Amino acid sequence: MRVIDAGLDVRAFFTTRDGGASAPPFAGLNLATHVGDDPAAVASNRDAVARHAGAPVTFLTAEHGIAVAHITEPGQVGPTADALVTNVPGVALAAIAADCVPILLHDAASGAVAAVHAGREGLFAGVIDAAVAALIDLRGGPRVTGKLSASIGPAVCGRCYEVPAQLRARVAARHPSALSSTRIGTPALDLPRAVETRLAELGCHPIVRSRLCTVENENLFSHRRDGVTGRIAGVIVCP
Ligand SMILES: [Zn+2]
Repeated sequence: MRVIDAGLDVRAFFTTRDGGASAPPFAGLNLATHVGDDPAAVASNRDAVARHAGAPVTFLTAEHGIAVAHITEPGQVGPTADALVTNVPGVALAAIAADCVPILLHDAASGAVAAVHAGREGLFAGVIDAAVAALIDLRGGPRVTGKLSASIGPAVCGRCYEVPAQLRARVAARHPSALSSTRIGTPALDLPRAVETRLAELGCHPIVRSRLCTVENENLFSHRRDGVTGRIAGVIVCP
């Protein structure tokens, strides 16, 4: 299994397609149960990720909203949510994605961590704000900023995510840095850049950002490129 280190001070990484038991079109390390893959293969793949993490992993199932779930036991089955947070040592959280933006957060002030799935609609609805607020709540004190670090995983880039002009205008009105154009000049959205901007506005520092585009890299899953396909995951372990 080849993973991308998230560059945070805790155990945190992003998976790729490399390794895994899934057959095409999900080959190989598909971590999603809802895409039509063989459940036994997904279970085997998730076990491999847990071994790599060194802890049982709770995977979130996103619904493109702003629901945040607190996970309190290692290996707990997560409810449907767009962000998972925990401050329990040994709990590992994972956000799956294929073009949408997986985000991992670590609060050095409390040791709490979060895994977030931010697609276009989740970003627009405020999932990043919700996840950061949940982490700050876990401090139990005043809402101080600082000591929150973030890592943004592979996602569709601003050159590949073509959208209708009206949709670009709607998202860019709230997230100006999302405004982008494709290589041929048609309207596009840059979700990773908008995510980075919002995390910085909320006081996250440092912010590590993968520049890998899911559409452009065959070693990553891309829903936009392939339609029926698997999902990678961003995984973070609470220290
Ligand atoms: Zn791209």
